[in-house]
Amino acid sequence: LAQLYGPLNSLGYIYRAINQNLVDTERLMKLLDEPPEVQDKPNAPDLEVTTGEIEFDNVNFSYDGRVRALNGVSFTVPKGSSVALVGESGSGKSTILRLLYRFYDLKDGEGRILIDGQDIREVTQQSLRRAIGVVPQDSVLFNASIAYNIGYGRFGATPTEIQVAAQAAQMHERVLSFPDGYDTTVGERGVRLSGGEKQRVAIARTLLKNPPILLLDEATSALDTSTEKDIQKALQNLVKGRSSLSIAHRLSTIAAADIILVLKDGQIVESGNFRDLLAQGGVFAAMWEDQVSAEEAAEIVNKSDIHN
Ligand code: ATP
Repeated sequence: LAQLYGPLNSLGYIYRAINQNLVDTERLMKLLDEPPEVQDKPNAPDLEVTTGEIEFDNVNFSYDGRVRALNGVSFTVPKGSSVALVGESGSGKSTILRLLYRFYDLKDGEGRILIDGQDIREVTQQSLRRAIGVVPQDSVLFNASIAYNIGYGRFGATPTEIQVAAQAAQMHERVLSFPDGYDTTVGERGVRLSGGEKQRVAIARTLLKNPPILLLDEATSALDTSTEKDIQKALQNLVKGRSSLSIAHRLSTIAAADIILVLKDGQIVESGNFRDLLAQGGVFAAMWEDQVSAEEAAEIVNKSDIHN
């Protein structure tokens, strides 16, 4: 498959646009099976993003028509704010991201998903996906230069723009350590990057794409402290000023989120910021009690840039 990339690159923008969606779609959300076709309505208008506010309004969803993956889910992501989704495996976190990306359409009477007041079923998929940047758990690298891998976020990006994005994604210094800098081939047949480095490439790509809305799926694997810090900084630069929904596994992300939604069996059982949820002593507090000591949590609260 990789051998196809070279010749296909020359097809330019169209190929990139299609391929971008494939990469975003498949890899990002662990979507292993074929998503059913989602059809645009005849003469559907483009989505017009004004502020990037997202609203889930009483959303019900089932994959198989029997078991409900989401049950009466309502929440708002105010413009520019960060929302962290937490909850045990199977609680519905990925389903929320998949629905916002329109892998599936909601059935009539099963709620609505709105962006700046527009029902996402009513607008073109292309305009919707243009407005959304995706940072997957495990990013895909092409057997191509690091510049290509980053520049892929926006067709026609200049070398300077690529470098600025790499800097904001905390990847520039690492790239300079490669034998041919930005011209170094990465991927299976070039310099192999670690999981944390691949994620920073994905962040740089997304910074170039510059979407108003972000979907992030954090890796579950543990990272060493310096990588963790680099990613944290890169993510801070990325989420700034954008509406974001993250499947959050890192305490640092969760602590810094404007709103945390706690999911259980497809329902939101708690919501609020980190301090409030800990003080509430409910599901979230119990979850974190299991994972971190109170001192560790307090240290993170103090260190994070929490203004809510
Ligand atoms: P994890 O943390 O393990 O990724 P999650 O919170 O993201 O879990 P979802 O993937 O949203 O959970 O799954 C919610 C429910 O929907 C689960 O019961 C799951 O088994 C079911 N489900 C998810 N994907 C599919 C699918 N493609 N077909 C049928 N059922 C599915």
